[in-house]
Amino acid sequence: MSLPRLEIRLDLIRHNAEILVGRLAQRGIEVCGVTKATLGSAEVARELLAAGVTSLGESRIDNVEHLRQRGIEAEIMLIRSPPMSQVDRVVASTDVSLNTELAVIEHLSASARRQQRNHAIILMVELGDLREGIMPSDLLEVVEQVLDLPGITLRGIGTNLACQSGVIPDASNMGQLTDLTESVEAAFGLKLSVISGGNSANLGWALSPESSIGRVSQLRLGEAILLGRNPTDRTGIDGLHTDAIALLGEVIESKDKPMVPAGTRGQSAFGAAKQTQGADGTEERIIVALGRQDIDPEGIVAPLPLTSLGASSDHLVLTSMAPKPAAVGSVIRFTLDYSALLRAMTSPFVARRFLQDSSTDPFMP
Ligand SMILES: *Cc1c(COP(=O)(O)O)cnc(C)c1O
Repeated sequence: MSLPRLEIRLDLIRHNAEILVGRLAQRGIEVCGVTKATLGSAEVARELLAAGVTSLGESRIDNVEHLRQRGIEAEIMLIRSPPMSQVDRVVASTDVSLNTELAVIEHLSASARRQQRNHAIILMVELGDLREGIMPSDLLEVVEQVLDLPGITLRGIGTNLACQSGVIPDASNMGQLTDLTESVEAAFGLKLSVISGGNSANLGWALSPESSIGRVSQLRLGEAILLGRNPTDRTGIDGLHTDAIALLGEVIESKDKPMVPAGTRGQSAFGAAKQTQGADGTEERIIVALGRQDIDPEGIVAPLPLTSLGASSDHLVLTSMAPKPAAVGSVIRFTLDYSALLRAMTSPFVARRFLQDSSTDPFMP
């Protein structure tokens, strides 16, 4: 089997999704299952749908089209504002998109009319994280204009926190989303059906018994399902698997080497070189055939007794506490954070192996 490769345990992903769908249902919240970190994997999408998500979320139209070509017919929401240059493709292959710009929505409307289709939108509101969103004070004016556009249905409003500035969803910003929902409904005499409260970082708030959920009716979840972790502090979520996805790489060098570099030192290939403290002597070092073209070196965790010392384009260097840690040709299994996962999934050099029932797989450790 080819290396490096991701091993994706579909049964564990399904379990994570089922648990979250069930817990959130008790709070009146449905789940949009986000596949963007998997490059629009149809295998993963099918598990999410089987687990009860009500729609799929994708950030890129290429991934959406890939899902459609692979036979996924479920509702797909584009979770990044449609680029104006792609509105025809967005109307053709998605059902709903998150939007912040009236000019884009006007283009979506024109395209929907040309294609004799209807396109639903959710207006994103800026609630403090300073990534996408209409300023709350401008929301009513945008709604008024959107309601006049043929081919466009205003399905609801939403927000996204924690991605750009790490702002944590709480009673205050989520309460604001409910208040805005009610002010839109009162001003225009309509009912918004989806209030899309945020991403995996919302789970702490959404699942806390003290929280008042208000009108929030949907969360868009990617990381929590795939990695089983809470993105605000990266702790494992109770009852979820944190090992559903692993990256396997091959050892291409294994040697005893000095602990400190020799010679006059300038910058390394990727900027300032780490200062290495004193210690004479040698240590076991191995090199794995993985690099920045495949992973984010900060986001990869090696199994004990190995520790990563960093990576250049094609070499991941590790040190070991124990002697003779790994022979040339052996395979190391790493765990990944979201950033490393994203990079590995989008690297053309990394293969993927989907495991349907990982407990009976002969190759699992
Ligand atoms: C990526 C993204 C999500 C999913 O985020 P996770 O942290 O993976 O759950 C949800 N909404 C938007 C707008 C996103 O860009």
